[in-house]
Amino acid sequence: MSQTHFGFETVDEEDKAHRVAAVFDSVANRYDLMNDVMSAGMHRLWKRFAVEQSGVRPGHKVLDIAGGSGDLARLFMDRMQGQGQVVLTDINESMLKVGRDRLINDGRVPFIVRCDGEKLPFPDRYFDCVSVAFGLRNMTHKNQALDEMHRVLRMGGKLIVLEFSHIAKSLSRLYDLYSFKVIPRMGQWLVKDAESYRYLAESIRMHPDQEALKQMITDAGFSRAGYFNLALGAVAVHYGWRMI
Ligand code: SAM
Repeated sequence: MSQTHFGFETVDEEDKAHRVAAVFDSVANRYDLMNDVMSAGMHRLWKRFAVEQSGVRPGHKVLDIAGGSGDLARLFMDRMQGQGQVVLTDINESMLKVGRDRLINDGRVPFIVRCDGEKLPFPDRYFDCVSVAFGLRNMTHKNQALDEMHRVLRMGGKLIVLEFSHIAKSLSRLYDLYSFKVIPRMGQWLVKDAESYRYLAESIRMHPDQEALKQMITDAGFSRAGYFNLALGAVAVHYGWRMI
């Protein structure tokens, strides 16, 4: 069986999917709280920025992959003012339930599909925009996932990838200290799960840097791929268009 990374560990590909599922089953109920604490609330601004870059308008069809908490779906729905279609998807039932309940409590009725971002159950060229926020990092076959995103976008449709990335070198020691010493302790304290947050820190280090991800997006067939650094590169918004 082929092998891949789960954080810093090398594991069988199938094992990775199970372990990622266990991480999100474990953190689902307190996922939002932990995001707010870890990022000092900044994840909300990053998500808002990502959605602003999407160019989504009323009437559009939007697919949010690995959408879990429903944060992006909600922002897209706000932009679309009740016209169009936002499809919230995730592979993990626990995360989708959190997202679904939050959207419904907020008076919104989302389309929800549980599916793997690497095998999307949607027709070719269907969506005007495809987004994935903090999800691509967890996927085993990132190239396959990007190919799928390209396949389901219409001509002229836009891909938005919000993901942790590689922080400016001058800050990397401080960031390492925060990621490997502070975040797992916060995870233990708030979610009773230090391991999942150790995985978070490790998976960020193993994720391709800004230029490498831009190249992967180009290799998947997207045109004019680029990115914006946020928080000095700790996070980046990548984008690209389907032009062929
Ligand atoms: N997008 C949400 C946000 O920004 O708050 C949730 C991000 S959460 C860090 C990562 C999500 O990726 C989890 O909900 C997890 O279940 C999902 N995920 C991991 N592997 C996936 C896959 N192969 N296909 C779809 N979703 C996946």
